[in-house]
Amino acid sequence: MKAVAVFPKSREVRVIDDAPEPRLRSPTQVRVRTLEVGVCGTDKEIIDFRHGAPPEGEDFLILGHEALGEVVEVGASVQGLKAGDLVVPRVRRPCPHERCEACRHGYPDFCVTGDYTERGIQKAHGFCAEFFVEEVAYLHRVPAGLREVAVLTEPLTIAEKALRELERLKERLPWSTGPGRAVVLGSGPVGLLGAMALLRAGYRTTMYSRSPKPNAKAEASEGVGVPYLSSKEVPVEELRKLAGPVDVVYEAAGASKAAFEVLRALGPNGVFIFTGVPGRKEPLELEGAALLKQLVLNNQLVLGTVNASDADFAAALEDLGHFQARWPGRVERLITARHPPEDFQKIVSGKAGGIKHVITFG
Ligand SMILES: [Zn+2]
Ligand SMILES: [Zn+2]
Repeated sequence: MKAVAVFPKSREVRVIDDAPEPRLRSPTQVRVRTLEVGVCGTDKEIIDFRHGAPPEGEDFLILGHEALGEVVEVGASVQGLKAGDLVVPRVRRPCPHERCEACRHGYPDFCVTGDYTERGIQKAHGFCAEFFVEEVAYLHRVPAGLREVAVLTEPLTIAEKALRELERLKERLPWSTGPGRAVVLGSGPVGLLGAMALLRAGYRTTMYSRSPKPNAKAEASEGVGVPYLSSKEVPVEELRKLAGPVDVVYEAAGASKAAFEVLRALGPNGVFIFTGVPGRKEPLELEGAALLKQLVLNNQLVLGTVNASDADFAAALEDLGHFQARWPGRVERLITARHPPEDFQKIVSGKAGGIKHVITFG
């Protein structure tokens, strides 16, 4: 079958036509025909050979971790899924170690050993192929009405996990607090979907991103009622004034310098959530003493979050339905273009512009 694969030894990325077609190997597995695969910065890291690895003993990795597919065959003991159903797979699989409480409790996103695998990223083939096989426990059924947007489920799960943690963190305050004010840093798909999730959770949300208006990301942000401010036009001091005391910063830019600057805008008892992994390793000068003083005197929290669990995928699918109802056509428009598998490398490494690019099969 056709697949997009990366060969780390020969430093190649290409479409292969002879990838072995996966078959059911247990009664709890499901065979899925791939419909769409989203590409993102993680794919760029992999094809630049800075991240990820093929499965043990193999010389290539099939790419793709943000997928939507259609069930074609189910194992004998699979319940709740049948041929024709739409599904979205989770990405990370637990490590094998008994001592890892996180993995043993079904939260490999909190794995402590680092020996987890991730489909399309770390030692497990991904979904950018005509078919894939997956354990039913790692699949989420997608309502038919979400066919056009469900490929965005995985990037939305990052915000869902962050919001779930945020709700728990707010319990540290001895009184109950409403949603408050949020700033989203970075207007890529993770930032825009995060802004929508924050709005849905009731936060008064502002987008803070690099490029000046007009641009597609600003249009997408303001189209759902999130004011867009460019960091080239509005310095952090002014952001603080315009956005008011910031209760939450949701960082989705992967730019360390910008992130630490915006940390200065965080208000009293606020939470700063990092989700981006910086691509560039730029040196960073910090006023450490002032920053620590700010954190201490304001009871601030700084939180990193990666990947997502079962509950976050379920929440993302539910929210996509709400987003569609609340902002008709807006979620669809986050998908800039759909491409054949042959375009994978070109889209990931080039300046394709727009917001989200998706590979389609069949
Ligand atoms: Zn991704
Ligand atoms: Zn683990």
